[in-house]
Amino acid sequence: MPETILIVEDEPSLQETLAYSLAKQGYNVESVGDGRIALETARRLRPDLILLDIMLPGLDGVEVCKTLRRENFQFPIIMLTARDDEIDRVVGLEVGADDYLTKPFSMRELIARVKAQLRRTQVIREELEKIKTDLPATKQDILTLENMTINITRREVILNNAPLALKPQEYDLLLFFAEHKGQMLSREFVLERVWGWDSVGDSRTVDVHVRWLRQKIESDPANPTRIVTVRGGGYRFEG
Ligand code: CA
Repeated sequence: MPETILIVEDEPSLQETLAYSLAKQGYNVESVGDGRIALETARRLRPDLILLDIMLPGLDGVEVCKTLRRENFQFPIIMLTARDDEIDRVVGLEVGADDYLTKPFSMRELIARVKAQLRRTQVIREELEKIKTDLPATKQDILTLENMTINITRREVILNNAPLALKPQEYDLLLFFAEHKGQMLSREFVLERVWGWDSVGDSRTVDVHVRWLRQKIESDPANPTRIVTVRGGGYRFEG
């Protein structure tokens, strides 16, 4: 069954181009141009993915995204941003978006990002199915790092004896770091191994997720000691 994509974009020509390009890829497409209508449509339609413009009439994209995440909708959300200061909003706040694209972008890039997100969802779904049929966690499925444990089978992280809420990409990134503890990891390498496939996205995607992860696992996110930045290189996970 083709996947359904909800396009939220108030600029008619861009909305039309997006709808045309995605429909041509075989997706079911629904388009709206208002933030409030976007919320209602998302709740009703339960799409497989949302493309979400930030500057919208009614309710802005950041609020739409936050609201949907608060309501526990898990579908991937790709934000469409027009300006650098909008990127800062998406990146700086705990908005809950999975990726973003800065206008102007090529349709080729957009489709690559959409496919990558949908494939991730599919992989996660398959993993969840597998987990259901798997045996209970054995010892090597649990990674212990000081006050944090990662249960690989259950995709669960416990920090200071409490479960840590992580988005799928944050979890994948953390696990990747944990499995490569002490190694210098370039942004490009992380991008390729964690986001994978056609390696869409840019190294900024990695920075964004590292920032989100630090908010969650560092005792002082401004002075990280677990995920440290290596000058001119990338990151190193210290445990
Ligand atoms: Ca707009």
